[in-house]
Amino acid sequence: MSIITKSAAELGRMMAAGELTSEELTRASLEQIEKLNPTLNVFLAYDAEHALAQARAVDARRAAGEELGPLAGIPVGVKDNYCTTDFPTTCASRMLEGWVPPYDAAVVERLRAAGMVIVGKTNLDEFAMGSSTETSAFGPSRNPWDAERVPGGSGGGSAAAVASFMVPLAVGSDTGGSIRQPGAVTGTVGVKATYGGSSRYGLVAMASSLDQPGPCARTAEDAALLQEIISGYDPRDSASLNQPVPDLVGAVQAADLAGMKVGVVKEFAGDGYDQGVLDRFNEAVELLRQAGAEIVEVSCPHFTYALPAYYLIQPAELSSNLARFDGMRYGLREGDDGTRGAEEVMNLTREKGFGREGKRRIIIGTYALSAGYYDAYYGSAQKVRHLIQQDFEKAFEQVDVLISPTTPSTAFKVGERTADPMSMYLADLCTIPSNMAGNASGSFPSGLADGLPTGLQVMAPPMEDARVYRVGGVLERALEAKWGGPLWRKMEAL
Ligand code: GLN
Repeated sequence: MSIITKSAAELGRMMAAGELTSEELTRASLEQIEKLNPTLNVFLAYDAEHALAQARAVDARRAAGEELGPLAGIPVGVKDNYCTTDFPTTCASRMLEGWVPPYDAAVVERLRAAGMVIVGKTNLDEFAMGSSTETSAFGPSRNPWDAERVPGGSGGGSAAAVASFMVPLAVGSDTGGSIRQPGAVTGTVGVKATYGGSSRYGLVAMASSLDQPGPCARTAEDAALLQEIISGYDPRDSASLNQPVPDLVGAVQAADLAGMKVGVVKEFAGDGYDQGVLDRFNEAVELLRQAGAEIVEVSCPHFTYALPAYYLIQPAELSSNLARFDGMRYGLREGDDGTRGAEEVMNLTREKGFGREGKRRIIIGTYALSAGYYDAYYGSAQKVRHLIQQDFEKAFEQVDVLISPTTPSTAFKVGERTADPMSMYLADLCTIPSNMAGNASGSFPSGLADGLPTGLQVMAPPMEDARVYRVGGVLERALEAKWGGPLWRKMEAL
């Protein structure tokens, strides 16, 4: 296999040793994008000349003897809901088609400061609402394990870009599972940082109390390297935590799990879960036990209410955040021909600009927030959120981390769930509680069921992201020893 299957950490070492240039690597990355993007529809925008110019600039800095970080010169994909001054930021919506932001998101600034090469912008569900990328106004992305299937969502583009070796790393955002669920169904690593750990400045807001950036990678070490880069205090995000970034790369290297207590969430198994997903999960639990972890079963009785509560809180916040797309300030403006008043133009713009899922959620959210219903819906959902937080707090008095399958099933077929929003929402059953509590949570490959990837989710208390990486790193090495190499070697398309 060519250079593109190597990990970002390895490629970074090769560049530091003078065995490879960023230009060579970026060319290989672009070649893979050219080859596969027409089928997988992963990049909404990419720019070969611009990427190569960034690569040559890093090579020149290195040649001049400058000390560069471990990911300098590494190509990276950025989910298209992060503001970038050099690419349009569409959120996969007609509403923002062609809009080029006047500033970079904090995460993007940090990628640039680390010398990473921003190759392009990856596909997502419209405004990050969805679990399959099928609500994208620009067509669904496809799963490289089986192009008939979805790569998860909303960050299916970022996960598929990494899984198909277009880029070694990508950035995602996770409101209810949009980094972890695509990670699980594409056989990659996806981590949602602690809420406040990585700045949301310039990440187009969806549901502000839940949105959080994080890395998409093929290895735990690569994810750790990227998360360290995109993390840290930023006064421009009012929820940003002014605390030191944990040592995540060090955590991945942990030899074993001796002394660690791992809780298996009792509620996340049984009816509705694919048998293959549960089998791979149980095998992984056994490997964690062999690595020295003490495994205990933990009950989190309110986790089953997380999904319905999320689908009140999320649309409520979304309806307020998307109110800014009114045809006056950004992107699309429809029907402004001099004969219509502002209100009519706003209505026409929103009618044309938003897809079905967006409209559904704006209506649900506006209703849940309206006078007379606020306490019954939004207020109740916030109470449930509090109970979920208490479940976590109680669990973390007993154990260091909680684990579960990342998602109840493997990748489903394109079109299979679009007619039934409830079945689509169920893909995030296991990931949503961590957003409700704002804690750290990651998904790591746990194997294949009927030839399709499955994931194991690790949940840790806020700012204990290192625990997620410790478990992920140990699991990854144990599974690679068992398989005789990384999971992606089993990908038929290779
Ligand atoms: N699938 C969930 C939703 O549709 C989560 C999306 C996300 O995390 N951005 O809301």
